[in-house]
Amino acid sequence: MLNPASYALGANRSCIRELFEYGNARAAIVGRENVYDYSLGNPSIPSPREVDDTIRAVLADTDTLLVHGYTSAIGDLATRTAIADDLNQRYDANVQPEELFIGSGAAPELVAVLHALTTPGSEILAIAPYFPEYKPFAESAGAIFKVVPPDIPNFQIDLQKLEEMLTPATSAIIINSPNNPSGVVYTRQTLAELGALLTKKGSEYGHPIYLISDEPYRELVYGGVEVPFVPTIYPNTIVCYSYSKSLSLPGERIGYVYVPSQAADSKALYASVAGAARACGHVCAPSLWQKVIARCAHLRPDLEAYDRNRKALYEGLTAMGYEMAKPDGAFYLFIKAPGGDANAFSEKAKQKDLLLVPGDGFGCPGYFRICYCVSYEMIQRSLPVFAELINE
Ligand code: PLP
Repeated sequence: MLNPASYALGANRSCIRELFEYGNARAAIVGRENVYDYSLGNPSIPSPREVDDTIRAVLADTDTLLVHGYTSAIGDLATRTAIADDLNQRYDANVQPEELFIGSGAAPELVAVLHALTTPGSEILAIAPYFPEYKPFAESAGAIFKVVPPDIPNFQIDLQKLEEMLTPATSAIIINSPNNPSGVVYTRQTLAELGALLTKKGSEYGHPIYLISDEPYRELVYGGVEVPFVPTIYPNTIVCYSYSKSLSLPGERIGYVYVPSQAADSKALYASVAGAARACGHVCAPSLWQKVIARCAHLRPDLEAYDRNRKALYEGLTAMGYEMAKPDGAFYLFIKAPGGDANAFSEKAKQKDLLLVPGDGFGCPGYFRICYCVSYEMIQRSLPVFAELINE
């Protein structure tokens, strides 16, 4: 017998993938330069050169069996130490290697954390707009997935609506800042108010409400905007981090979970995350990449190309009359669809080979997402098409 939920997930293709493949098919017909594909969030800046140099150095310096062998399930101590040192240089967090679990990117880390925090009837809340995979991740863990409506137009967190949706069954809230799809960075004030609310409701319910902070875009921020380190604001935070975007390594699968010792039941929580990962088939994160991160955890991306794209689009589209929240981070803009129907607008755009992702899947109808990890030249060529569309 087949599991119907698994079948549905495998058989129904994601709208983003479909658009991306449609773009490739159109490019074969009309030429790549005539397709304006803003669908997929694949980093377009190269990894820092030190990353590639380090791969070679690791292969040259280390016994092959050690490079390619299993590591401990929680990750090499050298990797966890390097990450803790890097975090401690940047934040007043006192991160210890034993609080870190090396995972294979944010997606499987989130799955493990959600399994660890779910018992029958547990509710997991996400804040719209949210990364669509949270829903299957939470539901496959057995949780009830609920979405807090968006805080339009600023895309911070509507704390009043969140408070109304909290119940004694709430196990955790997932946040993501800098945000996919809005590009918005939650302010320190937003996070402090969120922390205060969760502290108050946790003591009312007699159990902690954990905050899962999904942070693949933590370093992708522009103009000196602050991305606060959430565990220093609310102790019951679990961080799921990934190097997919910050070091442009999405195909390599490496990141970490941070379970701070100041979180409630932290030792049991850490063991539960490790146990849940084990039950999901985690053996260890890729060994070569653990060794690379042990030497590269301090590296930061060169964001100049993304920033140039961001400015060109934000300034160009705003001048035409498009409305969006200020995109301070990640590599997305989330734009209000002229006419109000994002599906109809995206369909019209598709007829002109401009590929935009409607916001419904992110829990926010009426908006569309564009991903600006694309070439600057494509942006320049696409701007007249955006102008045509808003003036039709
Ligand atoms: N969370 C968010 C918000 C994302 O945008 C992504 C990927 O696009 C992920 C998690 C998954 O990242 P990873 O490649 O590290 O699994």
